[in-house]
Amino acid sequence: MEVCYQLPVLPLDRPVPKHVLSRRGAISFSSSSSLFGAPDPRQLSQRRGAISYDSSDQTALYIRMLGDVRVRSQVGFEPERRGSHPYLCVDFRTLHSRGETVGPVSGRRVHRLFSFQRHLHTSRLVHSATTCSHNPLHILDEDYLGQAKCMLEKVGSWNFDIFLFDRLTNGNSLVTLTFHLLNQYGLIELFQLDMVKLRRFLVMVQEDYHSQNPYHNAVHAADVTQAMYCYLREPKLSKSLTSCDILLGLLAAASHDLDHPGVNQPFLIKTNHYLAALYRNTSVLENHHWRSVVGLLRETGLFSHLPAEDGLNMERQLGSLILATDISRQNEYLSKFRLHLDQDDLCLGNASHRHFILQMALKCADICNPCRPWELSKQWSEKVTSEFFQQGDIEKKHKLEVSQLCDSQTNTVGDIQIGFMTYVVEPLFSEWARFSDTRLSQTMLGHLGLNKASWSGLRAEGSLDESEPDPDPPPEPVSGQGPGPCLGSGPATATAAEEPTTRTLAQGSQEF
Ligand SMILES: [Zn+2]
Repeated sequence: MEVCYQLPVLPLDRPVPKHVLSRRGAISFSSSSSLFGAPDPRQLSQRRGAISYDSSDQTALYIRMLGDVRVRSQVGFEPERRGSHPYLCVDFRTLHSRGETVGPVSGRRVHRLFSFQRHLHTSRLVHSATTCSHNPLHILDEDYLGQAKCMLEKVGSWNFDIFLFDRLTNGNSLVTLTFHLLNQYGLIELFQLDMVKLRRFLVMVQEDYHSQNPYHNAVHAADVTQAMYCYLREPKLSKSLTSCDILLGLLAAASHDLDHPGVNQPFLIKTNHYLAALYRNTSVLENHHWRSVVGLLRETGLFSHLPAEDGLNMERQLGSLILATDISRQNEYLSKFRLHLDQDDLCLGNASHRHFILQMALKCADICNPCRPWELSKQWSEKVTSEFFQQGDIEKKHKLEVSQLCDSQTNTVGDIQIGFMTYVVEPLFSEWARFSDTRLSQTMLGHLGLNKASWSGLRAEGSLDESEPDPDPPPEPVSGQGPGPCLGSGPATATAAEEPTTRTLAQGSQEF
């Protein structure tokens, strides 16, 4: 199978707007081979001024600057010329729409994918943001302004409905929520962040999530940011974290899945995607998320007023936090956490210990869906499964081996969730509750047990029909299957059984 890589290009039939040119720099490329063959570091250092990068940094930023992740293939398609590019490049996301048949991609659909539209949208939002930079809610539709504001007053509630908030903010939940939290903590003033740069940065972060992804989109990022905020407020953290820790924690949460392609690392590796080569098949997505946000930080100059060493340190710490979300490294982090708790030697006056706790908090926030109330948790479960199955469908269409958990014929939402809860979520949140034994931790474990019981109940009833949406309200949790029995018995605490299953889930699909 041959996989081609190609630069996203602006549609040839439209003039390139000046703001796009200025944002993307004046570097032009005559062919895609100049990008992936031998990027010229000199061009990048000229463009980025005096900041120096190592070569992998440069390549990553280079890719970041030229657009979002595209997974393209010509398998099964007749080559077709479009413009000066001799490939038929299929973005797998175009195959996601239900009912679309596999076939040559129309010009309209190809055009729709290019970043031009994204920048038009970004430009509009940035303009809006710059003209009303003192109030983040001015970009909201007036009708929903009051309701969204009302929701923000309870942004620390574990029942916070991010889906509703996203609707009320007209799809701007990530920008609105993150800005609100940074403002509420006084971080904008404390770090003397330029309001226009900050808004531009947040809008670009939000726009660089792929709204086509059923799960890994900006709403997931907003949800993780809201969960992170809940953890930052926990007594042990709130009394020890510095302002810098909080700023990093919130920014890492907001950007931790930036530019996620909607497929997992094994898929990128087996299709020889350039990101897999760039990051040597190691934490491929997480490295890309990190480099992407570094690219945005430098592009917007959000930290440009800080001493260079401080800015670089922030970038490194952001990377360390985002890389910790690689679920395939779950056991590594969990073992370290467990050891600290067993030895009772965590000292949050120690910067490295605080950083480790921030990593664990972000990991919890990233996979906290099963710990939310059922109405929210169920929606997330369906969305992530939808993304898995879409990947499986792509793999089938291209005659690739179907990744574990991605085959809609052999998996159900409930089965995937029960396995995920048992082997990944419960062990992590049980340790988190040991560390932070609070009402919130008990609430999360309670929901986890109830949700698991609900999925078990649905499975037992045989009432799950994966081809149709579930029209019935969820059943009440089965009596006697509350949080206690679910969490305190069986494989949830069986370390020996945990490892292979965790790895299986990670390799299968759980790239949260
Ligand atoms: Zn995530």
